[in-house]
Amino acid sequence: MSVLIFIDVAEGHVKKASLEVLTYGAKVAGQSGTTAEGVVLGSVTEDLSALGKYGVKKIHQVNNEILNHFDAQVYTRVIAQVAGSTGAKIIIFSNNVDGKAIAPRLSARLKAGLVSGAVALPDTTNGFVVKKNVFSGKAFANVSLNTNIKIISLSPNAYKTEATQGIAEIIPFNATVEASRVKVVAVNKASGEVPLTEAEIVVSAGRGMKGPENWGIVEDLAHSLHAALACSRPVADAHWRPHNEHVGQTGIAIAPNLYIAIGISGAIQHLAGVNRSKVIVVINKDPEAPFFKAADYGIIGDAFEILPKFTEAVKKMKGVA
Ligand SMILES: Cc1cc2nc3c(=O)[nH]c(=O)nc-3n(C[C@H](O)[C@H](O)[C@H](O)COP(=O)(O)OP(=O)(O)OC[C@H]3O[C@@H](n4cnc5c(N)ncnc54)[C@H](O)[C@@H]3O)c2cc1C
Repeated sequence: MSVLIFIDVAEGHVKKASLEVLTYGAKVAGQSGTTAEGVVLGSVTEDLSALGKYGVKKIHQVNNEILNHFDAQVYTRVIAQVAGSTGAKIIIFSNNVDGKAIAPRLSARLKAGLVSGAVALPDTTNGFVVKKNVFSGKAFANVSLNTNIKIISLSPNAYKTEATQGIAEIIPFNATVEASRVKVVAVNKASGEVPLTEAEIVVSAGRGMKGPENWGIVEDLAHSLHAALACSRPVADAHWRPHNEHVGQTGIAIAPNLYIAIGISGAIQHLAGVNRSKVIVVINKDPEAPFFKAADYGIIGDAFEILPKFTEAVKKMKGVA
């Protein structure tokens, strides 16, 4: 029996979330006295063996042209084969978009209990209990898994990546890969320097910016920090910004290391999508804005005065002014 970790890849590159699940999975394997193994689908341009430094001993790679395009149904069937062949009893995903699509399907297929959105290592003192976020991150639930096979999907940014030393053995896996039943008719890629869900830093703005013509100073700050851009829902609804930047309960949920919220009031529906950020900085001219309660750092003032100074200071600090 081993712990099997799904290594999520986009355009041949290992996603940041995968490094977290590798670290987490290696710790889970350590707890259970077994080894951590990875599974990667499709071709990868990086040196996979280097992922051994996150604690994974073997990586099973299913290299098939069909798998270069994500399809949750096809991926589920292939991962089930790898899990069966390796005898994995614990399977771990990131609770990102791909993990959310595969883990429940795999759970049904393998009749395995699933905890989605885990935030800590399982407590194995009395059974197998996994802590997870509930109610948009306002509470925790401890879920006991008692199925033979257990699946955990880890909340992005809930577990710190740790790299030591080690080389993983790459093992080609010969799986039966069926053609997708889904026909992709178009792919609309979000523009922007950094994908929102992968970004370490997110600069986000709301209705306080008054109109789309004022986003230049928000973009300047984002560029200076090499950050992704986000916005509140009314901003996207009013077509000031594209909908793929909308974060919150009905938008994308993110968990960057740094979230800078500019002219956003901090409504509960907005916070639901950003409150797992490591550090939150709020810029708002209203000292009573609810967002300040969730902030690690707050700047009370007019964004139109603060942002150009902020950007200038960042550039100066980076030596690019
Ligand atoms: C079912 C449901 C789901 C929802 N889902 C989402 C969601 O996913 N994401 C989301 O964002 N919202 C969502 N909402 C909407 C949410 O309730 C709020 O209405 C929204 O987040 C408010 O957006 P805002 O903060 O940009 O605007 P406002 O509430 O208008 O706040 C603007 C803020 O800007 C500040 N400000 C104004 N001028 C300046 C200035 N010059 N400098 C600095 N600060 C300034 C003001 O003090 C104020 O705090 C949802 C609502 C519902 C009912």
